[in-house]
Amino acid sequence: NNQVILRNYVTGFPKESDMNIVESSITLNLPEGSNDVLIKNLYLSCDPYMRILMNKVEVFEGFPPFTPASPLGGFGVAKVLESGHSDYKKGDLIWGFTRWEEYSLVPSTQIFSKIEHTDVPLSYYAGILGMAGLTAYAGFFELGTPKKGENVFVSAASGAVGQLVGQFAKLSGCYVVGSAGTKEKVNLLKNKLGFDEAFNYKEEPDLNAALKRYFPEGIDIYFENVGGKTLDAVLLNLRSNSRIPVCGMVSQYNLIEPEGVKNLTNLIFKQVHMQGFLVTNYYHLYPKFLEYLLPYIREGKVVYVEDRAEGLENGPKALVGLYSGRNVGKEWRQKQIR
Ligand code: NDP
Repeated sequence: NNQVILRNYVTGFPKESDMNIVESSITLNLPEGSNDVLIKNLYLSCDPYMRILMNKVEVFEGFPPFTPASPLGGFGVAKVLESGHSDYKKGDLIWGFTRWEEYSLVPSTQIFSKIEHTDVPLSYYAGILGMAGLTAYAGFFELGTPKKGENVFVSAASGAVGQLVGQFAKLSGCYVVGSAGTKEKVNLLKNKLGFDEAFNYKEEPDLNAALKRYFPEGIDIYFENVGGKTLDAVLLNLRSNSRIPVCGMVSQYNLIEPEGVKNLTNLIFKQVHMQGFLVTNYYHLYPKFLEYLLPYIREGKVVYVEDRAEGLENGPKALVGLYSGRNVGKEWRQKQIR
């Protein structure tokens, strides 16, 4: 049973050498009387929060840090080989929280959903139809509360979450601009993902000026994925009663000293609703989310660009690549390893 293990806790930017591929043994039979589920992992998702679980201290309630010398954990799509729980049977396809290894024995509580709709690519359940997709849905609709004609800004817009937020914004009749870290990603946002405008934040010496150019009347919803300098510039460009669903701050995860944000007083002057959220509190929305999104995917009205790495052995490289933006580009956007 090949596994990707964490060698030791990480400080600063993660490196491929912080992880290791090891071979371990697993009995491909369910232990006698077990309520657990034995699964074969098919697609595993590389997600920015995984770096946070490489810290020694617990940050997410209910998500303890990874344990050195043990496999990484993460969201993925898997096939049930044997089940000790009546909700699952051999051959079922599921998605949930699993481990970076070929086969896993997981408690049924870590399985979030059986996969019923297989007319769409299975890998989507490790991205757009899984945790990342639900994050975009809950953050944008529940916290962003979009109204037709509003102005939306999305950072890390070419990521799994950002792509979908942009497309939700268009479906809601909003004007949407995304920022991303390469020219190629900017083209993708404008030409494939339907954003009205997009810019490369690395090529903008003055982010405040860039936002003023794209939002002369200000921003109603800022879907926050990166934090730091981008957030500071957004704070200077908000409209009254604007909303900031704080989904993530990927620019801060590897910093030993997080960057300061200077313009927070604008939250008062503009009466901004800024709220952090964790997708784990929104799983009850999953059926509603699927009902909303699946028809759009089938009709080609929502698209998803995947960036795929093949094989567990390529997992560490793919994960490390997220923090330098290496993961998007070309025509694939996905974070799975098979
Ligand atoms: P992705 O896997 O797409 O990867 C992150 C992207 O972020 C990279 O491609 C890169 O693109 C960009 N990025 C990396 N480093 C920086 C940096 N220093 N400054 C600016 N951008 C950077 O991300 P996801 O779509 O999966 O996740 C997006 C955000 O949502 C993350 O912050 C994540 O932690 C958060 N999240 C939160 C959840 C919740 O429950 N609250 C659940 C899931 C995700 P580029 O080339 O544009 O720099």
